Amino acid sequence: MRLCRLEVAGVPRWGVIEGELVTPLAASPWDEVRKIAGAMPLATAKLLPPCEPTKVVAVGLNYRAHAAEMGKELPEEPLLFLKAPSSLLPPGGTVVLPRQSSRVEHEGELALVIGRIASRVNVSHALEYVRGFTCLDDVTARDIQHKEKVYARAKGFDTFCPVGPWLETEIADPQALPIELRVNGEVRQKGSTADMIFSVAELVAFISHVMTLFPGDLITTGTPPGVGPLRPGDSVEVEIAGIGVLRHTVSAA
Ligand code: ZN
Repeated sequence: MRLCRLEVAGVPRWGVIEGELVTPLAASPWDEVRKIAGAMPLATAKLLPPCEPTKVVAVGLNYRAHAAEMGKELPEEPLLFLKAPSSLLPPGGTVVLPRQSSRVEHEGELALVIGRIASRVNVSHALEYVRGFTCLDDVTARDIQHKEKVYARAKGFDTFCPVGPWLETEIADPQALPIELRVNGEVRQKGSTADMIFSVAELVAFISHVMTLFPGDLITTGTPPGVGPLRPGDSVEVEIAGIGVLRHTVSAA
Protein backbone atom coordinates (compact mmCIF):
# COMPACT_ATOMS: atom_id res chain seq x y z
CA MET A 1 0.00 0.00 0.00
CA ARG A 2 1.13 3.55 -0.68
CA LEU A 3 0.26 6.21 1.91
CA CYS A 4 0.81 9.91 1.33
CA ARG A 5 -0.01 13.28 2.79
CA LEU A 6 -1.66 15.85 0.61
CA GLU A 7 -3.39 19.19 0.76
CA VAL A 8 -7.17 19.01 0.35
CA ALA A 9 -8.89 22.42 0.13
CA GLY A 10 -5.99 23.94 2.05
CA VAL A 11 -6.05 21.28 4.80
CA PRO A 12 -3.29 18.66 5.20
CA ARG A 13 -4.62 15.10 5.20
CA TRP A 14 -3.35 11.57 4.86
CA GLY A 15 -4.28 9.73 1.70
CA VAL A 16 -3.98 6.33 0.07
CA ILE A 17 -2.71 5.94 -3.49
CA GLU A 18 -4.33 3.28 -5.65
CA GLY A 19 -3.19 3.25 -9.25
CA GLU A 20 -3.37 6.84 -10.51
CA LEU A 21 -5.87 7.96 -7.85
CA VAL A 22 -5.40 9.42 -4.36
CA THR A 23 -8.21 9.09 -1.81
CA PRO A 24 -8.09 11.19 1.38
CA LEU A 25 -8.31 9.42 4.75
CA ALA A 26 -10.47 10.30 7.75
CA ALA A 27 -7.47 10.25 10.11
CA SER A 28 -3.82 9.28 10.45
CA PRO A 29 -3.25 5.73 9.14
CA TRP A 30 -1.67 4.31 12.32
CA ASP A 31 -4.48 1.97 13.37
CA GLU A 32 -6.69 1.85 10.28
CA VAL A 33 -6.89 3.26 6.77
CA ARG A 34 -10.39 4.76 6.47
CA LYS A 35 -11.12 6.46 3.15
CA ILE A 36 -13.43 9.45 2.78
CA ALA A 37 -14.95 11.08 -0.30
CA GLY A 38 -12.87 13.25 -2.59
CA ALA A 39 -10.62 10.95 -4.64
CA MET A 40 -8.49 12.86 -7.14
CA PRO A 41 -5.87 12.07 -9.78
CA LEU A 42 -2.41 11.58 -8.26
CA ALA A 43 -1.00 13.79 -11.03
CA THR A 44 -2.92 16.85 -9.78
CA ALA A 45 -2.64 16.17 -6.01
CA LYS A 46 -0.49 18.56 -3.99
CA LEU A 47 1.67 16.09 -2.04
CA LEU A 48 3.20 16.96 1.35
CA PRO A 49 5.98 15.22 3.31
CA PRO A 50 4.54 11.76 4.21
CA CYS A 51 5.13 12.12 7.96
CA GLU A 52 4.11 14.20 11.00
CA PRO A 53 7.34 14.09 13.01
CA THR A 54 7.92 15.21 16.58
CA LYS A 55 11.56 14.70 15.52
CA VAL A 56 13.64 13.73 12.49
CA VAL A 57 16.37 11.31 13.57
CA ALA A 58 19.29 10.85 11.20
CA VAL A 59 22.22 8.46 11.19
CA GLY A 60 25.73 9.43 10.12
CA LEU A 61 28.28 7.20 8.36
CA ASN A 62 26.08 4.12 7.97
CA TYR A 63 27.71 2.91 4.74
CA ARG A 64 31.37 1.86 4.76
CA ALA A 65 32.15 3.44 1.39
CA HIS A 66 30.66 6.80 2.44
CA ALA A 67 32.68 6.80 5.69
CA ALA A 68 35.77 6.12 3.56
CA GLU A 69 35.05 8.99 1.15
CA MET A 70 34.63 11.33 4.15
CA GLY A 71 37.93 10.08 5.64
CA LYS A 72 36.13 8.95 8.82
CA GLU A 73 36.49 5.84 11.00
CA LEU A 74 33.56 3.41 11.01
CA PRO A 75 31.32 4.10 14.01
CA GLU A 76 31.11 1.36 16.66
CA GLU A 77 27.55 2.39 17.47
CA PRO A 78 25.04 4.30 15.30
CA LEU A 79 25.99 7.99 15.14
CA LEU A 80 22.74 9.89 15.72
CA PHE A 81 21.86 13.48 14.99
CA LEU A 82 18.59 15.40 14.64
CA LYS A 83 17.31 17.42 11.72
CA ALA A 84 14.82 20.17 12.52
CA PRO A 85 11.22 19.26 11.56
CA SER A 86 11.08 22.77 10.04
CA SER A 87 13.60 21.62 7.40
CA LEU A 88 11.04 19.27 5.78
CA LEU A 89 10.40 19.90 2.09
CA PRO A 90 7.50 18.37 0.15
CA PRO A 91 8.03 16.28 -3.00
CA GLY A 92 8.70 18.60 -5.95
CA GLY A 93 9.89 21.38 -3.63
CA THR A 94 12.94 23.62 -3.94
CA VAL A 95 16.01 23.42 -1.72
CA VAL A 96 17.20 26.98 -1.05
CA LEU A 97 21.00 27.28 -0.78
CA PRO A 98 21.73 29.47 2.26
CA ARG A 99 24.12 32.40 1.91
CA GLN A 100 26.06 31.14 4.97
CA SER A 101 27.40 28.14 3.01
CA SER A 102 29.47 27.82 -0.15
CA ARG A 103 29.23 24.02 -0.35
CA VAL A 104 25.82 22.37 -0.01
CA GLU A 105 25.69 18.66 -0.84
CA HIS A 106 23.09 15.96 -1.52
CA GLU A 107 22.79 12.70 0.47
CA GLY A 108 20.21 10.30 -0.96
CA GLU A 109 18.85 8.02 1.78
CA LEU A 110 16.26 5.38 2.67
CA ALA A 111 13.94 6.82 5.32
CA LEU A 112 11.11 5.34 7.36
CA VAL A 113 8.14 6.59 9.33
CA ILE A 114 7.15 5.15 12.70
CA GLY A 115 3.57 3.86 13.08
CA ARG A 116 3.38 2.80 16.75
CA ILE A 117 4.89 4.20 19.95
CA ALA A 118 8.32 2.57 20.24
CA SER A 119 10.26 2.60 23.50
CA ARG A 120 13.10 0.17 24.23
CA VAL A 121 12.06 -2.28 21.51
CA ASN A 122 14.07 -5.38 20.54
CA VAL A 123 15.78 -5.69 17.17
CA SER A 124 13.66 -8.76 16.38
CA HIS A 125 10.43 -6.74 16.76
CA ALA A 126 11.66 -3.33 15.56
CA LEU A 127 10.21 -3.50 12.03
CA GLU A 128 6.71 -3.96 13.50
CA TYR A 129 6.90 -0.31 14.56
CA VAL A 130 7.61 0.96 11.02
CA ARG A 131 4.57 2.20 9.06
CA GLY A 132 6.37 2.57 5.74
CA PHE A 133 9.49 3.51 3.80
CA THR A 134 10.27 6.53 1.65
CA CYS A 135 13.09 8.45 -0.07
CA LEU A 136 14.94 11.37 1.52
CA ASP A 137 17.71 13.81 0.61
CA ASP A 138 19.69 14.68 3.77
CA VAL A 139 20.89 18.02 2.38
CA THR A 140 24.04 19.17 4.16
CA ALA A 141 26.10 22.37 4.25
CA ARG A 142 29.39 20.47 4.07
CA ASP A 143 31.67 23.44 4.80
CA ILE A 144 29.71 24.21 7.98
CA GLN A 145 29.64 20.51 8.96
CA HIS A 146 33.43 20.35 8.69
CA LYS A 147 34.06 23.35 10.92
CA GLU A 148 31.50 22.59 13.66
CA LYS A 149 31.40 19.60 16.04
CA VAL A 150 27.60 19.30 16.03
CA TYR A 151 25.47 19.07 12.91
CA ALA A 152 22.51 21.21 14.02
CA ARG A 153 23.29 24.10 11.67
CA ALA A 154 24.87 22.15 8.78
CA LYS A 155 21.86 19.83 8.51
CA GLY A 156 19.10 22.06 9.83
CA PHE A 157 18.47 24.85 7.33
CA ASP A 158 14.92 25.30 6.06
CA THR A 159 14.27 23.10 2.97
CA PHE A 160 17.21 20.77 3.82
CA CYS A 161 14.97 17.70 4.23
CA PRO A 162 13.18 16.77 0.99
CA VAL A 163 11.19 13.59 1.70
CA GLY A 164 8.63 11.45 -0.13
CA PRO A 165 6.85 11.11 -2.44
CA TRP A 166 4.88 8.58 -0.34
CA LEU A 167 5.26 5.72 2.16
CA GLU A 168 5.49 2.22 0.76
CA THR A 169 4.14 -0.06 3.47
CA GLU A 170 5.00 -3.42 1.93
CA ILE A 171 8.76 -3.76 1.72
CA ALA A 172 9.70 -7.41 2.16
CA ASP A 173 13.37 -6.72 2.99
CA PRO A 174 14.56 -3.16 3.67
CA GLN A 175 18.17 -4.41 3.43
CA ALA A 176 17.87 -5.35 -0.25
CA LEU A 177 16.92 -2.06 -1.92
CA PRO A 178 18.92 -0.47 -4.74
CA ILE A 179 19.23 3.30 -4.14
CA GLU A 180 20.33 5.93 -6.63
CA LEU A 181 20.58 9.73 -6.62
CA ARG A 182 20.72 11.67 -9.89
CA VAL A 183 21.46 15.36 -10.47
CA ASN A 184 20.19 16.68 -13.83
CA GLY A 185 19.85 13.05 -14.94
CA GLU A 186 23.47 12.15 -14.11
CA VAL A 187 23.95 9.34 -11.58
CA ARG A 188 25.89 10.70 -8.59
CA GLN A 189 25.13 8.11 -5.91
CA LYS A 190 24.43 4.44 -6.46
CA GLY A 191 24.31 1.79 -3.79
CA SER A 192 22.25 -0.80 -2.00
CA THR A 193 20.77 -0.81 1.47
CA ALA A 194 22.48 -4.21 1.76
CA ASP A 195 25.69 -2.21 2.43
CA MET A 196 24.41 -0.50 5.58
CA ILE A 197 26.59 -0.99 8.65
CA PHE A 198 23.55 -0.98 10.98
CA SER A 199 20.29 -2.39 9.60
CA VAL A 200 16.96 -0.56 9.75
CA ALA A 201 15.81 -2.90 12.54
CA GLU A 202 19.02 -2.29 14.52
CA LEU A 203 18.64 1.49 14.08
CA VAL A 204 15.00 1.59 15.20
CA ALA A 205 15.82 -0.54 18.26
CA PHE A 206 18.93 1.51 19.09
CA ILE A 207 17.14 4.86 18.76
CA SER A 208 14.15 3.60 20.80
CA HIS A 209 16.54 2.91 23.69
CA VAL A 210 17.49 6.61 23.65
CA MET A 211 14.22 8.41 22.88
CA THR A 212 10.60 7.29 22.61
CA LEU A 213 9.52 7.22 18.99
CA PHE A 214 5.99 8.37 18.17
CA PRO A 215 3.74 7.65 15.19
CA GLY A 216 4.75 10.03 12.42
CA ASP A 217 8.39 10.33 13.52
CA LEU A 218 10.87 10.20 10.66
CA ILE A 219 14.16 8.28 10.69
CA THR A 220 16.71 8.49 7.89
CA THR A 221 19.30 5.77 7.65
CA GLY A 222 22.49 7.22 6.15
CA THR A 223 23.83 7.73 2.67
CA PRO A 224 25.80 5.55 0.22
CA PRO A 225 28.96 6.98 -1.42
CA GLY A 226 28.98 9.67 -4.09
CA VAL A 227 27.86 12.77 -2.17
CA GLY A 228 28.50 15.97 -4.10
CA PRO A 229 27.60 19.62 -4.54
CA LEU A 230 24.22 21.15 -5.41
CA ARG A 231 23.99 24.28 -7.54
CA PRO A 232 21.16 26.70 -8.36
CA GLY A 233 18.98 25.24 -11.12
CA ASP A 234 19.85 21.61 -10.34
CA SER A 235 17.13 19.00 -10.57
CA VAL A 236 17.58 16.08 -8.13
CA GLU A 237 16.00 12.62 -8.09
CA VAL A 238 16.33 10.04 -5.31
CA GLU A 239 15.11 6.66 -6.53
CA ILE A 240 14.69 3.56 -4.37
CA ALA A 241 13.50 0.42 -6.10
CA GLY A 242 10.07 -0.65 -4.87
CA ILE A 243 9.33 2.78 -3.36
CA GLY A 244 9.51 5.41 -6.09
CA VAL A 245 11.27 8.63 -7.06
CA LEU A 246 11.57 11.75 -4.92
CA ARG A 247 12.22 14.88 -7.00
CA HIS A 248 13.32 18.36 -5.94
CA THR A 249 14.97 21.38 -7.45
CA VAL A 250 17.61 23.78 -6.08
CA SER A 251 17.75 27.56 -6.04
CA ALA A 252 19.98 30.32 -4.70
CA ALA A 253 18.81 32.20 -1.60
ZN1 ZN B 1 22.88 11.70 5.82
